[in-house]
Amino acid sequence: MRADLVLIAAGFVGPEVDQLTLAERHLTARQTLSVTSDWRLRDLEGATPVFACGDAVRGQSLIVWAIAEGRSAAAAIDAALGGGPSALPAPVEPYALSW
Ligand SMILES: Cc1cc2nc3c(=O)[nH]c(=O)nc-3n(C[C@H](O)[C@H](O)[C@H](O)COP(=O)(O)OP(=O)(O)OC[C@H]3O[C@@H](n4cnc5c(N)ncnc54)[C@H](O)[C@@H]3O)c2cc1C
Repeated sequence: MRADLVLIAAGFVGPEVDQLTLAERHLTARQTLSVTSDWRLRDLEGATPVFACGDAVRGQSLIVWAIAEGRSAAAAIDAALGGGPSALPAPVEPYALSW
């Protein structure tokens, strides 16, 4: 079919791991970001932690999971910055497949 311009609007295509310059060890078998139990990107070198949650970790899912994981990751970030337990709610743990 002839066209002057084709725009591709695709959802559920996964995180852009090449742009994040991540190695295989940072990824799950499903090519999502692999995180530890406190939402840190697994096996990342350097002193600065990187936190991840939502579809980028879980894979394509539902907004309720993204919200719950976002809140949980926020609590983990709060704990990391504060150097102790966070008082923020952490309703879920990282999806098991990302471990
Ligand atoms: C077509 C479609 C329909 C859907 N319908 C439903 C539905 O009916 N009900 C439901 O519960 N869920 C639905 N979902 C799923 C829901 O939208 C997702 O699960 C949810 O949005 C995931 O939230 P998130 O914050 O993890 O990721 P996202 O909402 O994808 O947010 C990621 C954000 O990161 C930004 N970003 C990406 N790369 C960079 C970068 N390098 N630097 C800075 N920012 C960056 C993006 O622009 C984006 O704003 C649907 C999804 C799609 C695609």
